[in-house]
Amino acid sequence: MTENTNHPTIGDIGKALETWARPGWAQSYDNVGLQVGDARRTVGRALIALDLTPAVLDEAKQHEATLIITHHPLLFTPLRSVTADGFVSSLALRLAEAGIALYSIHTNLDAAPGGVSFALAELLSLHDARFLDVFDEAAPAPDQPDTQAGLGAVGRLAAPMTLRAFLQHVAERLQAGSLRYTGDPEAVVETVAVCGGSGSSFTPLALKAGADAYVTADVTYHKFFDVLDLEGRPRMALIDAGHYETEAVTEGLLQQWLSHRFPTVEWRRTATRTSPIETFVPGEDSV
Ligand SMILES: [Zn+2]
Repeated sequence: MTENTNHPTIGDIGKALETWARPGWAQSYDNVGLQVGDARRTVGRALIALDLTPAVLDEAKQHEATLIITHHPLLFTPLRSVTADGFVSSLALRLAEAGIALYSIHTNLDAAPGGVSFALAELLSLHDARFLDVFDEAAPAPDQPDTQAGLGAVGRLAAPMTLRAFLQHVAERLQAGSLRYTGDPEAVVETVAVCGGSGSSFTPLALKAGADAYVTADVTYHKFFDVLDLEGRPRMALIDAGHYETEAVTEGLLQQWLSHRFPTVEWRRTATRTSPIETFVPGEDSV
């Protein structure tokens, strides 16, 4: 073997990530860590993406990356076979054939200090961000504040603005083609709660935290009613900015964290927008 010893192994990278985003913090349904590949292989080039798609795999091949790190795991349920049939199975086969490893850091990164929701809070220029829901566990030692884990984040805008202006701000920062929301466009927004991805179950916590607006994704019709008072007026704005749009920030977060710790590896953020969802705006594309 004549592998470059300046390069870390996949195992080294996984171990470092897991000191930040502990696997024990992942939700019980989740499947985090090395999904495909040999942990002993070294890595010189790696690609970071929210999801693994055929386009991301092609991009990894093009850049001769031997590792792909995704937020969303490819493998959730056990595979009975690894064949060219089926979206998940064929991607797993193509990874193995190409000698490209896949590592996923999902709900354990959502829960980590400085994780997904904190990156989202920073992207929206929120100050003094703290967890929306702190995990019930031993209080961190004062010299180890980074051992606290939780989900979502709540912080404050530097200056209050109307909900109308805030919606514009969110759409611009998240590059969202549209936003679904409940709220009064003239209401004042200063305290903002966020949760990247499907966070509508935290709506009561966002209300309790005194948020003027809660930015998350995958909000179903009936969940929007949860923010209305007895007269049907919104107590807080609830904004569904899209799953991909609220989590794409994860790619940059991982790239920054990994570049700092493993400077000999070329960490590339995917150029692929992996969301399968498009927004149709009537009148824009006149045929
Ligand atoms: Zn997600």
